Amino acid sequence: MAKEIRKILVVNAGSSSLKYMLFDMKGEKMLCKGLVERIGIDAPRLVYQKAGAEKIAREIAAPDHAAALKSVVEAISDKENGVIASLKEIDAIGHRMLHGAEVFKDSVKVDAKVLKECKKLIPFGPLHMPPNIGGVEACQKIFKGVPNVVVFDTAFHQTMPECAFLYAVAPEFYRKNGIRKYGFHGTSHKFVTQAAAKFLKKPLTKVNLVTCHLGNGSSLAAIKNGEVIDTTMGLTPLAGLIMGTRTGDIDVAAAIAIAKIKRLTLDELDTFLNKKSGLEALTGSKGGDMRDICSKAEKGDLDAIVALEMFGHRTALYVGGYNTLVGGADAIIMTGGIGENSSEGREQIVKRLGALGIKLDKKANAKIHGEIGVISTKDSKIPVVVLPTNEELMIARDTMRVLKTSKKA
Ligand code: ADP
Repeated sequence: MAKEIRKILVVNAGSSSLKYMLFDMKGEKMLCKGLVERIGIDAPRLVYQKAGAEKIAREIAAPDHAAALKSVVEAISDKENGVIASLKEIDAIGHRMLHGAEVFKDSVKVDAKVLKECKKLIPFGPLHMPPNIGGVEACQKIFKGVPNVVVFDTAFHQTMPECAFLYAVAPEFYRKNGIRKYGFHGTSHKFVTQAAAKFLKKPLTKVNLVTCHLGNGSSLAAIKNGEVIDTTMGLTPLAGLIMGTRTGDIDVAAAIAIAKIKRLTLDELDTFLNKKSGLEALTGSKGGDMRDICSKAEKGDLDAIVALEMFGHRTALYVGGYNTLVGGADAIIMTGGIGENSSEGREQIVKRLGALGIKLDKKANAKIHGEIGVISTKDSKIPVVVLPTNEELMIARDTMRVLKTSKKA
């Protein structure tokens, strides 16, 4: 009989970092989590935290992702502080992968063909895809015979219709080059969609939502009958909302004008729009951190006040539009670092939703941080629900589902 899948390691490999989380899927318990940072750079560091215990951090030798993973294995199977007796207890590994383009519409078990297809998609995410793939290959080396599943950030958005995902340029750019809207944060939008259906006591296939993932990177999704019909990010994560360091939507002619003023190359313009703009550029707060901006605004800093208004305005604009597209939402969902925690950030959005019959419950909004709860008044026509996301658990669940179905096939 096939071995029961119980302990699943979730891996998110970035260019110089590797985040991990280990789950016992019986009861979906997180056993430990952590990261390795500065991989391949000087003084790499391992952070390890057992559930309910303090973080432990130490310097390690990690010239590459495989070495980083070896240190993770040592930490989680450590006699004193570990959570497993040996690496053999890990039944499966789930990986975050940035881009599945139109090739991967769902999570998939890794084999040589899948890995080859992922490598072909590197041009869609030249910075993220190589380390994502590297993480899978490192696991194949270290966890011999343990199945790997890849979970794509774009996959949940693959249900978008053409009218939502095409850009108004000659169709050959889509047909020949795959230039279209893909959307990101799919794993988070999927997690909160499922959790919202449960919270609202509606079947997943009947739930209509506007899901707002608001963090350093932010995106909204329009969910009709449990499926995405539109989302704010595009070919890349640059589009849509005003983010920590990204412009979000901008007239391309304005971007070209800036490139001319600053004499930027196309690559430099890309960096400018993605990394040197957004809330950071508007306020001078590093990374456009919402906490810093709110405290500046409280002290009367005009730039911070205007930036908050812009953030609320742009987000509310999309909430209203997406509410129309889904034919009336059953709820507006707020998640991500800002959505889960920032009362001020949420207020900036909700105070602009009066036309939808939504009123902010100020008391509830001030109280709810990092937990599920309703922040709109009882007489609001559509509830606004704060719902903490859990992308790692979604990856673990998908890993389990894919392996169970692949066994049956
Ligand atoms: P990422 O997109 O990198 O995953 P997060 O989802 O962690 O980012 O969100 C980071 C954002 O959330 C930052 O703007 C931060 O200021 C904000 N944030 C996190 N915690 C709080 C808090 N307790 N109160 C207000 N804002 C918060």
